[in-house]
Amino acid sequence: MLFGSFPLIFTNRKTTVPVKDTPKHQGLRNQLVTQLEAKGITDKNVLEAIRLIPRHLFLNSSFEDFAYQDKAFPIGAGQTISQPYTVAFQSQLLQVKKDDKVLEIGTGSGYQTAVLCKMGAKVYSVERQNELFKSTSLLLPKLGIRAKHLSFGDGYKGLPAHAPFDSIIVTAGAPIIPQPLMAQLKIGGRLVIPVGEKEQIMTLLIRKNETQFEKHEFGDFKFVPLLENKN
Ligand code: SAH
Repeated sequence: MLFGSFPLIFTNRKTTVPVKDTPKHQGLRNQLVTQLEAKGITDKNVLEAIRLIPRHLFLNSSFEDFAYQDKAFPIGAGQTISQPYTVAFQSQLLQVKKDDKVLEIGTGSGYQTAVLCKMGAKVYSVERQNELFKSTSLLLPKLGIRAKHLSFGDGYKGLPAHAPFDSIIVTAGAPIIPQPLMAQLKIGGRLVIPVGEKEQIMTLLIRKNETQFEKHEFGDFKFVPLLENKN
């Protein structure tokens, strides 16, 4: 990982203007972490990852001054980077342990991917927008983040070739819980998925055995929709 050896100059998403990670950005991240703690995030591993990952480099440089606000922002292709609180909340529900095999549906900007990698997970991520798949596949290695596998495709199907997973995180609002994702979870594994059309209920499924899942529901969230591929 490159983070920690500052200042480094990176070229961020969709701009040729070099954008640095500076002590100012690090200070803003520390403030963000304090806010997330105040909102109830307690997992030290999650908070540390958010403290270290330079979120502004996952956005177009025009958002540089806003990147550490606890808000979602556009990332192109009609999609958004999730709000840091949402990233933290979902990551906390996953209870990631080092070297866990984690499947992410909806790579988007790659920010959630980076947080999970920083937490020590081996991340497999799927994105259905080719533009985002391509730009994020280029961006992550530039930032020193090595996801195990990035793929272009339909997350409704999961990634059967790489299953089973210790946990699965869906970062778009799903009208239903896709059955293939449940099937690709290890026994004891956790699936974190926002379920609903206009608004979603954050849902955690824990796989108890071959056929049984324990369901827990958390508050309302708002995500861009999990779309089905037409091809
Ligand atoms: N984790 C992302 C969130 C991006 S928003 C981030 O941190 O930036 C949700 C993403 O899910 C979008 O990029 C969208 O294109 C993608 N998506 C929607 N439906 C999908 C599907 N069926 N399969 C894979 N990705 C999907």
